[in-house]
Amino acid sequence: QAELQGVNQYAFYTDDMDRRMIERQTLETALRSALDRREISVAYQVQVTLADEALCGIEALLRWESPELGSVSPERFIPLAEEIGLIGELGELAFRLACNQLSEWDRVGFRVPRMSVNLSIHELEQGGLVERIGRVLDRTGIDPSRIELEVTESVLMSQTGDALAALNALRDMGLRLAIDDFGTGYSSLAYLKRLPVQRLKIDRSFVKDLGRDLNDESIVRAIIGLGRSFGIAVLAEGVETRKQAAFLGREGCQEAQGYLFDRPMGAAALAKRWSTPGGLRSR
Ligand code: C2E
Ligand code: MG
Ligand code: MG
Ligand code: MG
Repeated sequence: QAELQGVNQYAFYTDDMDRRMIERQTLETALRSALDRREISVAYQVQVTLADEALCGIEALLRWESPELGSVSPERFIPLAEEIGLIGELGELAFRLACNQLSEWDRVGFRVPRMSVNLSIHELEQGGLVERIGRVLDRTGIDPSRIELEVTESVLMSQTGDALAALNALRDMGLRLAIDDFGTGYSSLAYLKRLPVQRLKIDRSFVKDLGRDLNDESIVRAIIGLGRSFGIAVLAEGVETRKQAAFLGREGCQEAQGYLFDRPMGAAALAKRWSTPGGLRSR
């Protein structure tokens, strides 16, 4: 009996491993053809100033709609793309689509002060990124200071120095830099003065329990204070409730992003909802 159980357990584990390997393989194969098959797009989410909830920026977020797998979260396909060497192409597509959209919005008179695009450390460590970004900006004629690149703290820990060199080159071109998911990584404060950072984005894990968790409140207060003393703007991610927004505003956080204001959506839907003066609230 015991022996049989052992056999069954063993079979269970191998089945599980097999299943995971097949799943990963399926995902990888699908992702490799997703670009050619035009299954990748970008969704846009507004960022607002807390004082008046006016539109102050928009974040571009990659979306993958696979006919076979349905919509796949970037939390799954971005790490995979990094692993299999596809992040360069994906990142370039996101940047290009976001810049095209921004210049289209300029053309139709929808005023978007800033466009944020996520950058993975892998992109920063590969050659050619700075040139590629430069070419897109030249072609679209967008003022580089309206583009903000979001990187996580891992970039600051990069051992090679390539990432840091690329970030400095991008800064020299006039682009802005935000630290995404701030507070979840391991960066020391010393990095903040070494890097050309214009914004800290408080990770949504600290925002979630504001009003309930005193530790999270202390962390959020500390990040806002840090921003103030370094002269770096602070934006809170994942704001879902009035209570969270009120806390953040009271503590001096300037900007926020989250479902309370709007979800990520297609460009046309966003423009429709936000293009009137004052945005959503006046509709
Ligand atoms: P992120 O850059 O921190 O983006 C914010 C994520 O939080 C987005 O998830 C957004 O949909 C979600 N979010 C916004 N407001 C709320 C809220 O109120 N509540 C909750 N629960 N979530 C909220 P998404 O779109 O699934 O993207 C996940 C991550 O994938 C991004 O996190 C970013 O790290 C990565 N990513 C997305 N697009 C790109 C890209 O073009 N390049 C790179 N390198 N990474 C990307
Ligand atoms: Mg981001
Ligand atoms: Mg984030
Ligand atoms: Mg993230």
